[in-house]
Amino acid sequence: MPTLKTLHYDVIIVGAGINGCTSAYFLSQAGLKVALVDKTGIASGGSGAAGAFISPKFSKEGPLKELMAVAYDEAMTFYTTVLASHTLLKPLLHMSQDNPDESISLEQSAVVDARSACETLASGIDFYVLEVQSPSYVEEEWHCEDLRSSHLVLTIGAYPKIMPIDYVGLRGIWGHRIDITTSSDVPCIMHQYVSISPTLNEGVIAIGATHDVHYSPFDPFAIYDIEAGRAELIEKALKTLKLNNIKILKDYTGLRSGSNDYMPMLGSLVDAHATLALHPHLQHGKETDPKEFVYYPNLTMINGSGGYGFVLAPYLAKRLKEYLVEGIPMDKMISPSRFFSRWAKRKKS
Ligand SMILES: Cc1cc2nc3c(=O)[nH]c(=O)nc-3n(C[C@H](O)[C@H](O)[C@H](O)COP(=O)(O)OP(=O)(O)OC[C@H]3O[C@@H](n4cnc5c(N)ncnc54)[C@H](O)[C@@H]3O)c2cc1C
Repeated sequence: MPTLKTLHYDVIIVGAGINGCTSAYFLSQAGLKVALVDKTGIASGGSGAAGAFISPKFSKEGPLKELMAVAYDEAMTFYTTVLASHTLLKPLLHMSQDNPDESISLEQSAVVDARSACETLASGIDFYVLEVQSPSYVEEEWHCEDLRSSHLVLTIGAYPKIMPIDYVGLRGIWGHRIDITTSSDVPCIMHQYVSISPTLNEGVIAIGATHDVHYSPFDPFAIYDIEAGRAELIEKALKTLKLNNIKILKDYTGLRSGSNDYMPMLGSLVDAHATLALHPHLQHGKETDPKEFVYYPNLTMINGSGGYGFVLAPYLAKRLKEYLVEGIPMDKMISPSRFFSRWAKRKKS
């Protein structure tokens, strides 16, 4: 039952990290009425911790590298135009860990000020501090507390799922990075064991980040050892470049959200219960065209960008806008439904 406070939107976006903020930006620019909600605040998750280096993927050939190349080009254009004052352009030197003499350099790459970039993208958009527990679809509208919308977008990263979508293969990867000062010169962005880079703050050097798949901030018994994290970062940075008189200014920690197959996710979400009721043979491993699955109406998720969330966000948000505003179908290769058949089969056993 709508209350006097009930507010109606075209789209509610849950999660105000770089994916939520970039989506909110693209959709509101396209004329949609957007509500952006976050349980803590803008860039309070993995996005607020990111070094936000905008780099292409240098490793193995394949579909991920191809997608990343397109995303990288779109990201460079996006950050240097929409967020120029939050973006520092510098040459990039990418050195192999196995063979330090092997390196790739780019004349120009970028490092973004993560927090101010998210805040700028979200400015002018209705923002609510709200923890969404389990959104419901009633009478052709999504309900998130007193907010209503035709379409719902979930961009909650590695946080606990708020819909019954166990089949979506995601894992949290804890990361730690630091800002330092040093009397040594850091002339460009360097990637090797960790990244070392100048930042928009004159004289401040960013070092990041660690990758820890064992620690989870959601485990009440787990304790994160910040001193060990700092020591690891400095030790790895020193293997690339001699840095004198290091003074640590600030620590940043947070979770990346990686997909099980490393590809990002943009797409509709399968209603597992309804789909298994309609296609029980899926539990016996019988192939079914994903077109035959039952999907939640007007619900899209962006997730699984791993350590490349800032590179991928403009690409994914633009595709979301094209889907919602222009009716252009989303790429099946990155649909979260790609995990469903295998999950359904395993569920049986
Ligand atoms: C240390 C570190 C360094 C990194 N460096 C880089 C880098 O150099 N380059 C790069 O491209 N990427 C980098 N990344 C990865 C990048 O930060 C992530 O891929 C990106 O932040 C993912 O953004 P997101 O919007 O999907 O999720 P998040 O930023 O995690 O945002 C999710 C948001 O959802 C909110 N939320 C969760 N549940 C609810 C709920 N129930 N109701 C309401 N709100 C909810 C959370 O409060 C949070 O703000 C780094 C990450 C880390 C941790």
